[in-house]
Amino acid sequence: MRSAGEIARDVREGASSAGRELEIALSAIRARNDELNVFLYVDEAGARLAAQRVDEAVARGERTGPLAGVPVALKDNLCQRGIPTTCSSRILEGWRPPYNATVIDRLVAAGAVPVGKTNLDEFAMGSSTETSAFGPTRNPLDPTRVPGGSSGGSAAAVAADMTPLALGSDTGGSIRQPAALCGIVGVKPTYGLVSRYGLIAFASSLDQIGPLSRSVADAALLLEVIAGHDPRDSTSLPEPAPSLRDHLDDGVVGRRIGVVRELIDGADPEVVASVDRAAEVLRAAGAELVPLSIPELRLGLSAYYLIAPAEASSNLARFDGVRYGLRVDADDVAAMNEATRTAGFGAEVKRRIMLGTYALSAGYYDAYYGQALKVRTQMIEAFRRAYREVDLLLGATTPTVAFPFGSKTANPMSMYLSDVFTIPTNLAGEAAISVPFGVGEGGLPVGVQLLGPGRSEARLLAAGRVLELAEGRP
Ligand code: GLN
Repeated sequence: MRSAGEIARDVREGASSAGRELEIALSAIRARNDELNVFLYVDEAGARLAAQRVDEAVARGERTGPLAGVPVALKDNLCQRGIPTTCSSRILEGWRPPYNATVIDRLVAAGAVPVGKTNLDEFAMGSSTETSAFGPTRNPLDPTRVPGGSSGGSAAAVAADMTPLALGSDTGGSIRQPAALCGIVGVKPTYGLVSRYGLIAFASSLDQIGPLSRSVADAALLLEVIAGHDPRDSTSLPEPAPSLRDHLDDGVVGRRIGVVRELIDGADPEVVASVDRAAEVLRAAGAELVPLSIPELRLGLSAYYLIAPAEASSNLARFDGVRYGLRVDADDVAAMNEATRTAGFGAEVKRRIMLGTYALSAGYYDAYYGQALKVRTQMIEAFRRAYREVDLLLGATTPTVAFPFGSKTANPMSMYLSDVFTIPTNLAGEAAISVPFGVGEGGLPVGVQLLGPGRSEARLLAAGRVLELAEGRP
């Protein structure tokens, strides 16, 4: 499949058309969606209309955007006007948002064609897409294994060549982890770089929308389109989108890169070997590699599993049977709320709501939530110290390659540990990229992770590009 950049160029130059590119995507979806359960909803009619608009603009000789005619898959926690938006939860059954997420408006303004909504762990809580109320997504590279999560459907859409690009959201790793498990590129942007307006909130201080793609260049292309200040998101950074594509070939000459022990320890031997080899490649390309230890990172998982559920317990209070989707009738309002939430939420979501409510409750607040916030501050300071010594950090994205269905569902802790290397970036509000590099058990892809301070996306993408080129990907 051609890259998003090539598709957009062909559409603009008349060598292809948005309509034709859409049909290619739709037939790829038809071929494997029953098997893989990637899309929960395919908006054929809306996509055809969007494609037609692009083709008409091209025919009139108008300027079309950088994503002209490029089909894009959307994680189903992004609000799209008039299109069922479920968060893979029964509680939103039948709800159609009355407005678009800012990222969707920006995609369409750039000429992209949104084709449909992809499966996720319910409310983005999970690491395997197995908590979806609509069944798991299968990994296109090995359908007996998970695609990762929570943006498993978006990662699988790209890995199965259904669409060249997809949007995901990353609260603790949900873009990078499925990207790693599906052998593609995923970026968790700096907190505030991409507007969260219209992203159904999981943990508002951690959530970020970001790109999933086959190549680093395509990730840069998509991120440039969706980034930049949005007055509708009060946490949005004040500046316009950074220029990323111009820096793709900057390389790593003279860069200092820290190889972080805490982002490698405990990973499978093949994963460790891939990180070692990535370090060698970066060194050969002119970077200086320094071994580093940041012990605070070990506290990330514990802090995250207090902060994220605490915020989720508050955010999910709005699903009460009155305002959205499902309602289970009962004798009075309280009983209706309870019956609706009991029927509408799955087990993992209920676990998070209870954890969060407990952590925030009077008497426990200081011991749990308050303590977790202090750890978060320590982590931010530890990263800041590290970035006084080095420009970027290197580690693994995940401890293992894609795992078989059911292998971690019995024990929530084992599932939570799949994000042990990705969570610190979210707590610090910083940026990171996962790039496929080497293979592990069963010949499945390994992702290596590059981390940087806030607003370091250009640097991260350039370093990721060095790894990609070393792997022989154009
Ligand atoms: N797997 C983590 C969790 O379950 C992260 C999820 C995410 O980033 N949305 O909370």
